[in-house]
Amino acid sequence: MNLDNSPIAAIATAPGRGGIGVVRASGKNLSALIDALFGPGAKTLKPRHATYLPFTNADGSVIDQGIAIHFKGPHSYTGEDVLELQGHGGPVVLQMLLARCLDAGKEIGLRLAEPGEFTRRAFLNDKLDLAQAEAVADLIEASTEAAARSASQSLAGAFSKTIHALVERVTHLRMLVEATLDFPEEEIDFLEQSDARGQLAGIRATLDQVLRQAAQGALLREGLNIVLAGQPNVGKSSLLNALAGADVAIVTAIAGTTRDKVTETIQIEGIPLNIIDTAGIRTVAEDGDEVERIGIERTWAEVGKADVILHLLDADQGPTRADEAIVARFPANVPVLRVWNKIDLSGHQPSVEQTPDATHVYLSAHEGQGIDLLRAELLRIAGWQQTGESLYLARERHLIALKAAREHLSNAAEHASHSDQSLDLFAEELRLAQDQLSSITGAFSSDDLLGVIFSRFCIGK
Ligand code: GDP
Ligand code: ZN
Repeated sequence: MNLDNSPIAAIATAPGRGGIGVVRASGKNLSALIDALFGPGAKTLKPRHATYLPFTNADGSVIDQGIAIHFKGPHSYTGEDVLELQGHGGPVVLQMLLARCLDAGKEIGLRLAEPGEFTRRAFLNDKLDLAQAEAVADLIEASTEAAARSASQSLAGAFSKTIHALVERVTHLRMLVEATLDFPEEEIDFLEQSDARGQLAGIRATLDQVLRQAAQGALLREGLNIVLAGQPNVGKSSLLNALAGADVAIVTAIAGTTRDKVTETIQIEGIPLNIIDTAGIRTVAEDGDEVERIGIERTWAEVGKADVILHLLDADQGPTRADEAIVARFPANVPVLRVWNKIDLSGHQPSVEQTPDATHVYLSAHEGQGIDLLRAELLRIAGWQQTGESLYLARERHLIALKAAREHLSNAAEHASHSDQSLDLFAEELRLAQDQLSSITGAFSSDDLLGVIFSRFCIGK
């Protein structure tokens, strides 16, 4: 239960201009705010009904005309009383409306909301669990349709439901084990009779599957970071366009803070590929100015964090001196795909070839031959498998918890093996696995487990 229900307010829509903009308030005593805004006893605002009204200043001057909706807690996003004012989506008019609300709500202590505070309250009031609250942010941030679909499923509870089901199975098994601990003479037979090993194996198989789906989902979320290197005119821009495909426009084009770096995001099968074009890196920067030099160093630092380097070369001309200088700077830990472009001029066949130092792809960005080979190669490097399973748009935190749970279950299996049978260690590892899984939805408390044990198990029998 959320203890802080002091009233908060904020502009809920994105900065910038839009057809509609929303100011949202949540917390206790909102009826006082409604009275202050729309006149005392504003019976006009029937809960969950849209009311068209002028939004006015204290002196009666009109800020905007719009729609007010009052959601009475707990039937609201946050679980508290919520007031939504939908006006026109201009930054100035929304600021004025927000300022008016804060002023009108001074008496009740209305303050500006902190980042994420509405959703945090929704979590604390049990409107959403942790994984769902995270899915709200993921849905808003999704950069591809596949990512948005997956986030929206998590928001609807698909991921949480899967995790809950796993936790329940672990809890059930643990409850059996712990009950047996009190009867040492039966311990030997316990694992056999209850098929504890079989149950554990089943749980581990499900967890492996969830982890696979989550890891794939994480790819949808994070995408693949690709560095595109190569000399001017080898066809970097052409390759980007060819990779993005005719029907998929380049999603974003963010000019870097310095002149040397451009990040573009394209997608293959819904996976975002964040491409850093190092066109500006050239070879060395000693001749450049200070700003440029710092920018170049920063870009190289990012190269070190990339998932793959695409080194583009002209198949017709072969590598140049400048290419050698660039290759010398490639970090050793990042795999390199050597892409030989313009095979329509060189006469190579589209193909993928492996040499000890790199994978080579022969293609023509201009004619389109071999582009599918490069796409497949990038998906392979990303670890993408098209399984047809639904994916969970997992976060790093979820993956870490899932992996830790897998580790504990593996230890548990060890303790349940015939040669090393130790029921208390077995139970302990189950408890640790359960904690990890529960941390995903934020639902863990040890009281839960006690409740399960006493409600389902007649120990006195
Ligand atoms: P960038 O400077 O590396 O970005 O190279 P661009 O993509 O701008 O391409 C440079 C020139 O090479 C342009 O005239 C392209 O039309 C041409 N080009 C790019 N890819 C190919 C290709 O596969 N075959 C041929 N024949 N020309 C290409
Ligand atoms: Zn270019």
